[in-house]
Amino acid sequence: MRIVLFGPPGVGKSTQADLIAQNMHFKRFSMGDTLRDEVASKSELGTKIKRYVESGELVPDDIVFELVKKFVCENQKTDILFEGYPRTVRQAEALDALLSQLGLSMDVVLEIHLSDDEVFRRLTNRGYCPNCSSIYNYDTHPPKVDSICDNCGQKLVTRSDDSEEVIRRRLQLYAEQTKKLANHYNAPLVYQRIRAEGTKQEVFDKIAHIIHAYSNKR
Ligand code: AMP
Repeated sequence: MRIVLFGPPGVGKSTQADLIAQNMHFKRFSMGDTLRDEVASKSELGTKIKRYVESGELVPDDIVFELVKKFVCENQKTDILFEGYPRTVRQAEALDALLSQLGLSMDVVLEIHLSDDEVFRRLTNRGYCPNCSSIYNYDTHPPKVDSICDNCGQKLVTRSDDSEEVIRRRLQLYAEQTKKLANHYNAPLVYQRIRAEGTKQEVFDKIAHIIHAYSNKR
């Protein structure tokens, strides 16, 4: 089974992707984490993509497609959760073509949504662990010890693309490009939209319900 999780930056995709991977045996593919790891490793590819990731611009399609293709080809027999890919209709078409070549399909596409004001508020309050990629919100989900990751003890930082200017650009790109995925994946059983209000457990419960309902109808 293959699932896509999409929604505006700051809506909690990464937190939900973690919960799905931990509780439902999906292997998670996070394009944002994959790209940030490349940048941190200072590889040739990382050096090439750094300016896109730090300014909130989309990394060119050919580069992100090679990364997702490698992951899909290596995990053909595994349940996969895609987070942060696809982000445009062109990327969705490329993924559709790849899956179809491999005799696979996209099963559930979940849009998590929230108002722009709330998204903005969440992003400007966010702490990020540069070691294990855990995300915190200093209001609603603070770390147990001030500015220290609960998971691995690393000092939390603000992601370089969580500045106000870059957040505005990321939200603009989301509205112009990523929202169109809803029309691309418009089959009733496949595309589902949920609101991100409530605790992370409440949002996860809604997601788990949709995934179980899909599995039972197959
Ligand atoms: P995220 O962690 O999902 O917010 O992604 C962080 C940044 O990585 C984005 O602002 C883009 O610069 C880049 N990125 C993530 N996913 C994609 C994608 N599917 N296509 C192009 N660039 C991406």
